[in-house]
Amino acid sequence: MSDAQKTDAEWRAVLPPDRYAVLRQAATEPPFSGALYHNEAQGTYACGACHAPLFSSDTKFESGCGWPSFFDPLTSDAVTIVEDRSHGMLRREVRCARCDSHLGHVFEDGPAPTGERYCMNSLALGFDASPAK
Ligand SMILES: [Zn+2]
Repeated sequence: MSDAQKTDAEWRAVLPPDRYAVLRQAATEPPFSGALYHNEAQGTYACGACHAPLFSSDTKFESGCGWPSFFDPLTSDAVTIVEDRSHGMLRREVRCARCDSHLGHVFEDGPAPTGERYCMNSLALGFDASPAK
């Protein structure tokens, strides 16, 4: 069974409850709570559900918003962007392109060169300390 085809019950069985709530139910972790928020090590951030590589530490920046923030995904097809009209707002939701898990949202107030801020839940990510190559 590939990760892209897992059922909700299968995800619930393999993910810890806090990760399941974020990745599969689009919950948002409390700001400044994530283990990876202050992580400054060199490496690759991967999907917390299917482990697809998503972001490089080279694009991580200190946004002050309380969540791990990146100005660009590892590759243009690593994530998909979905219009999110929940909570009375229009936002752009970021999902893992491989398994469709919720990762966070992207905003247009990031630094150069992209001007984008991928605001990711730490619980939605894993970290591999080897360099992205
Ligand atoms: Zn994934």
